[in-house]
Parts: sequence; C-alpha cells; structure tokens
Amino acid sequence: MGKPTGFMEYERKDSTAVKPKERMKNFNEFHIQLSEEERCEQAARCMECGVPFCQSGMIIGGMTSGCPLNNLVPEWNDLLYTGNLEQALNRLLKTNNFPEFTCRVCPAPCEAACTCNLNGRPVAIKENEMGIIENGYAQGYITAKPPKVRTGKRVAVVGSGPSGLAAADQLNKRGHLVTVFERSDRAGGLLMYGIPNMKLEKQVIDRKINLMKEEGVVFEVGVEIGKDAKSAKKLTQDYDAVILACGASNPRDISAPGRDAKGIYFAVDYLKSVTKSLLDSNFEDKKYIDAKGKNVLIIGGGDTGNDCVGTAIRQGAKSVMQLEMMPKPPEHRAPENPWPEWPKVLKTDYGQEEAIAVFGNDPRVYQTTVKEFIKDKNGNLCKVKVVKLEPKKDEKTGRMIMAEAAGSEYEVPAQLVLIAAGFLGAQKSVADAFGVELNERTNVKTMPDHYATNVPNVFTAGDMHRGQSLVVWAIHEGRQAAKQVDQALMGYTNL
Ligand SMILES: Cc1cc2nc3c(=O)[nH]c(=O)nc-3n(C[C@H](O)[C@H](O)[C@H](O)COP(=O)(O)OP(=O)(O)OC[C@H]3O[C@@H](n4cnc5c(N)ncnc54)[C@H](O)[C@@H]3O)c2cc1C
Ligand code: SF4
Ligand code: SF4
Repeated sequence: MGKPTGFMEYERKDSTAVKPKERMKNFNEFHIQLSEEERCEQAARCMECGVPFCQSGMIIGGMTSGCPLNNLVPEWNDLLYTGNLEQALNRLLKTNNFPEFTCRVCPAPCEAACTCNLNGRPVAIKENEMGIIENGYAQGYITAKPPKVRTGKRVAVVGSGPSGLAAADQLNKRGHLVTVFERSDRAGGLLMYGIPNMKLEKQVIDRKINLMKEEGVVFEVGVEIGKDAKSAKKLTQDYDAVILACGASNPRDISAPGRDAKGIYFAVDYLKSVTKSLLDSNFEDKKYIDAKGKNVLIIGGGDTGNDCVGTAIRQGAKSVMQLEMMPKPPEHRAPENPWPEWPKVLKTDYGQEEAIAVFGNDPRVYQTTVKEFIKDKNGNLCKVKVVKLEPKKDEKTGRMIMAEAAGSEYEVPAQLVLIAAGFLGAQKSVADAFGVELNERTNVKTMPDHYATNVPNVFTAGDMHRGQSLVVWAIHEGRQAAKQVDQALMGYTNL
C-alpha cells in the first residue's frame, strides 16, 4: 500500500472541466488533467484492499460491478504513488489494450465498486488510468513492438470497433497475421463514429491504430464484408480464422404516425455525420445533419441521447428536449441497491449540464414518449405530440409496464428529432452471409463464455455477441475471443 493513511488525509479530486458555456464553443475534449503531484495524492487514497472489488468485474443484479478487464487497480495505484510510472504502465497494459480509450469514455464501474464508497468518495481510478497511459506516450515508453516470431496463421477481423481492435491487437502480439476489415472510411467503430469528439478526440484513436499498423496489423477500410455470401465464403477460405465484430447496429425505431416526416434521424447517423464532417473538412463541406436554430427533440434519456444533446448545443440548437420513458432515478442509492452494486442514481452528464447552462433547465422529461410526429404541408416535421406514461401492472403478464396516462397528450415544436432508443442486436445480413446462427435477442449465438459460432473457424466478439454494451466490455470480449482463436489455431494458448 502506498500510504497507509492516504484515504484519511486526502479528499478525492477530479480533473477540472472547462465551464459549459466555454466548452460548447468547439468540439474539443474539455477536461484539464490533474498535475503529477495531485495524481500521486489520489493514488495514495487507495488502500490496496485484500479483496479489491474495484477489479472484480462481476455482474450483480444484472449490472456491472468492478472492472470487466480485471485491471490491476491497487497495483498501479501503488506504483503511481511511489513514482514508478513505467512499471505502472506495464501493469496497466497487461489487462487493457486501450487505456487511452477507457480513461476517457468508461463509466468506471471500478469506482462504483471501490470500498472507499462505504465511507466517502471512491478512489479516482479513471483519472489515474489516464495519468499512467498519457504519461507513457509523453515519455516515449509506448513504441511499436512487433512480434519477434510469426506463426504463419492468418486471421481476419470484421469490424474495427473496440472488440475487433482488441482481438486484432492480441492475436498480432501472439504472432498471427491479422487483417481488420472495416466498412466505414475510418477505423474505430463507435469510438470513431458514435462517441463525439469532445468525449474522445479522434487523434487518440489514430495514434493507437498507427501503432498497431507499425506492429504489423493490416487495416482495410471501406470494405463491407458479407454484403453477399460470396465475399463471406472467400474470407473463410483465405483465412485460418474469422472474427465477426460488427457491433449491434440495428437501431430501435419509433413506430408513431408521421414517422416518414422529413427531419427524423437515428442518433448514430446524426453523430456520425457531424464527426465525419469535422474530421474531413472542419465542417466546411456542410455534409452534416444540422441542429442550428432548430427545436430539437431527442427520444431516449440515456448516454447516446446525452451525446446528441451536447452535439446539438454545439451546433446552435434553439431548444433541446430529451424524452425518457422511465421515472426519474433517485438522487441517492435506494436501500435495495446497496454497494457494491452499480448505483442506479440520477446522473447529470456533460450535455445535460450544458443544456442547463444555456437554457436554464434540465432537458430531460421523464415518463414521456412520442404519440405522433406532425408534418407541415411540405412533409417537414414541425411538431411532435407527446404523452405522459405511468407505471401499471400488465393484466396478462403481471409485470410492471409504462402505460399512457389518458388525456395527458401535449404538443411540442420540433424540426429535428433524433432517435436514441437503443439497439436491437446484430445486423442479420452479415450473420446470414456467414451462415452464423443468432439467438432470441438477435445476437450471434455461442455457448456461454465461448466465442466460436456454429460455423467452423468463425468466431464473434463485442456488441454483436453480447448486445449493446460498453467499450470496456467490448475490449474484454475481443481479448477473450482472441484467446479462443489462438487455442483453436495452435492447440494451446498463452494469451
Ligand atoms: C452514441 C454512442 C455513444 C456511446 N458512448 C459510450 C461511452 O461513452 N462509453 C462506453 O463505454 N460505451 C459507449 N457506447 C457503447 C460502445 O461504443 C459500444 O459498446 C462499443 O463500441 C462496441 O464495440 P464493438 O467493437 O462491438 O462494435 P462497434 O464499435 O459498433 O464497431 C463495429 C464496427 O464494425 C463495422 N462493420 C459492421 N458490419 C461490417 C461489415 N459487414 N464489414 C466490415 N465492417 C463492418 C462497423 O462499421 C463498425 O465500425 C456508445 C454507443 C453509442 C451508440
Ligand atoms: S477500464 Fe473502466 S472499469 Fe476498468 S479500471 Fe478503467 S475506468 Fe475502471
Ligand atoms: S477498492 Fe478502492 S481502495 Fe480498494 S484497492 Fe480498489 S481502488 Fe483501492
């Protein structure tokens, strides 16, 4: 343990965020990192617990508790405190291929599970992770390290999101020859074209991908595999193993009357258009869906909805409203949601903070959904009829459902609607092209904790396998799939 009395001497300190009205002037990241001295103090708060819940990665009550990668948190906190930053980096990279991504976008279930929660605030684990990895780049500790020996085995990874990248990185390190195929024009999956630039600047992804290229991973972008059965068959013939890591990109739609009105988009299409235009031309090409001057209605109160709020505000939206079907969560943990469970409490994220700063109110409206999209005579969306919901017992199933409250409809002006209502599993066309079976949740079917599909030498990982999840779980899946591919190719694995 770094400092036995650290947790009593030091309060938790987070990195400072640039004030909402200032940061919304651009699409840059807006957190100012802690100084080395501050970080050392934060690491000193870690008590190196005998049972470190922070690194457990368990599922309790259907939610994640602790780090799904089992990151060696107490070890690197100690090394950080004692100033052994290079060793801290080595311990961090042992379990996490991409700390530069997780330290920016992970919701940090490690911190929610930290024992310090019992008597105060958790250790700033995510901040410490950022300090270690960014110091590693700044000091030049991170350099390309291609494998010394090649096995001669060839692996194709379809999809370049965090699961595909993690699988590719692991298998390349093991000496296999890996090619990543990506249908978009840039690699990174939802890291690139989902999560907005202000949360994860895209040069951070390019920095890592360039390193992987130097280490021997081949990237082929703009290639859609499995568009037809022929291209899928060719891949299985040309490679010793194929990993399907195509994500869960089927968006859940809203089937209200007027859905064909002009001005209704899926959240990821909107976010992608904005990031692509930013990266291609700093918005000069105007090829983005624009919220400027519009009343924007976002359907979905989750994280994707929040990213839409932050993006629309940066574009100069006239107003932003975010609909959530479920009731407002409590401010504090309910008794039936104790530590170390994930706390189901109200979280006000960056986009919502910005909306409060600009419009004076939280954009979220709870227990409300869309009843009808209203068009003008040219077919453009002009208003949305919404309706209040209330919890009610379903007479057939006995389960609680959110039912419409009679007579509670009202109209709101909206020229732009963004649907951020979740995802419905893997794209069937890719699965069909490879002949892989899907399960009842339309994810690729495998045995529990296995990644092999029903088709020989075809594996799967990430959201395509697990369903819509988190970056940290996608990395976990990619690593585990790589292990099983290695086992299948070599007869044993040391991954
Ligand atoms: C808007 C948004 C914000 C999010 N924010 C966060 C966050 O802050 N923190 C967090 O932890 N998680 C977040 N998530 C969830 C997280 O991004 C995903 O869980 C994660 O990216 C899944 O990784 P993946 O590798 O399985 O798939 P993806 O990242 O979806 O990547 C799949 C890739 O496969 C490609 N592909 C698909 N089909 C083919 C094909 N036939 N041929 C070639 N390529 C193909 C796709 O183009 C895509 O690039 C967010 C999700 C969304 C939608
Ligand atoms: S990857 Fe996420 S859960 Fe794991 S240590 Fe980092 S912030 Fe915590
Ligand atoms: S649970 Fe918290 S205090 Fe304990 S080892 Fe993990 S980070 Fe340190």
